[in-house]
Amino acid sequence: MTSVSILGSTGSIGLQTLEVIDAEPERFSVAALSAATSIDQLIAQAKKYRPQLVIVAHERDVQRVQQELPSGCEVACGIDGLVAASALADVTVNAIVGFAGLPVTIATLKAGKRLALANKESLITASPVVERVRRTAGASLLPVDSEHCAIFQCLGASHGKDAQVARLILTASGGPFRGRDAASLEGVTIADALQHPTWSMGPKITVDSSTLMNKGLEVIEAHALFGTPYDQIDVVVHPQSIVHSMVEFTDGTTIAQLSLPDMRLPIGYALSYPDRLQTPFGGLDLLSSSTLTFEPPDRSLFRCLDLAYAAGRLGGAAPAWLSAANEVAVEEFLAGRLEWAQISDVVSSTMDRYVADPLDTVEAVYEADAHSRSAARSVVAGMRRTND
Ligand code: NAD
Ligand code: MG
Repeated sequence: MTSVSILGSTGSIGLQTLEVIDAEPERFSVAALSAATSIDQLIAQAKKYRPQLVIVAHERDVQRVQQELPSGCEVACGIDGLVAASALADVTVNAIVGFAGLPVTIATLKAGKRLALANKESLITASPVVERVRRTAGASLLPVDSEHCAIFQCLGASHGKDAQVARLILTASGGPFRGRDAASLEGVTIADALQHPTWSMGPKITVDSSTLMNKGLEVIEAHALFGTPYDQIDVVVHPQSIVHSMVEFTDGTTIAQLSLPDMRLPIGYALSYPDRLQTPFGGLDLLSSSTLTFEPPDRSLFRCLDLAYAAGRLGGAAPAWLSAANEVAVEEFLAGRLEWAQISDVVSSTMDRYVADPLDTVEAVYEADAHSRSAARSVVAGMRRTND
């Protein structure tokens, strides 16, 4: 039996992780659950799965959760609670959204446990630090992001044999605005941006998919996970979301991973590796599936992709700045205070203020995040003054 801590258990990835556990209950048990909001849902989950530990993000929710939890279930709060949960189980699923997931990534690897990583922001912002803690005895990092799970599977026996890999090819759905021109993107609404054509996900990553920042973050994620140079990481738009990514080898072979777009497959893979689930989430019927097409991304309209490549190539704290500036811009957009087309402007102008910084401690990561957020907020304020 594999025990699993699910941090961010009320979100899109968290809920799908629980569905994987429901499908194979003889195989998995739940050690810890956490959420920042949707506290009723968290309590209901705790009653069903009876974990040892339940973590809330806010002190104001502690007492209520304590009163309603079944016996034997402890409540903890904030980062200390997340850190305790990360050391508790065989596998920790980091399903928190944004930079708030950083303590889980670091603590799980430090504890020498398996990290099933959905929270790409923590790896992107802190990759030099994560690289160090990944070497802890017993620690392993299994990507839950579908593209990286695909690459992990395609690499197979070539893991670590960098000289055999010609390129990683990340696929992108293209998001809801694929094929549009600049004029038709003016004034797109929050609802438009949240209308993803192939995946159903949380709001932040759905907006990131609409700007192609999600793919940009995934390019940096691929570099951090597999050590592949940026010149050997490409992006192709594949609107059907059936090919989840590919590895091209030096002998001309390309290996791809195919399945329906269903996150339960990469989640289950990360939980059960090196075995496989017996449940075919995303299983494919090739004869009934549509044509598979591939096209280049529109880099001039979706500028976030190249902003991410540039930050990745700069290294140091630049990816942390990029990710934080993007979080601020997406929050502002989702709050109705920024136009969709201004998201890339905020990230670009914030990156103009970045001064090279090596970033080698966790404290430095928090500092870089804070500096970038404050730079991004002043960029947003400047834009509002111009708009007024
Ligand atoms: P979501 O918004 O649906 O869920 C986020 C979860 O994190 C919720 O349980 C929420 O309560 C919790 N949370 C939010 N803020 C928090 C904070 N400050 N402290 C502690 N917990 C907090 O997000 P999601 O779509 O499930 O995405 C989670 C992560 O997985 C993101 O990093 C995303 O990029 C990545 N990811 C998601 C998908 C997907 O299909 N949803 C696919 C690939 C990668
Ligand atoms: Mg992805």
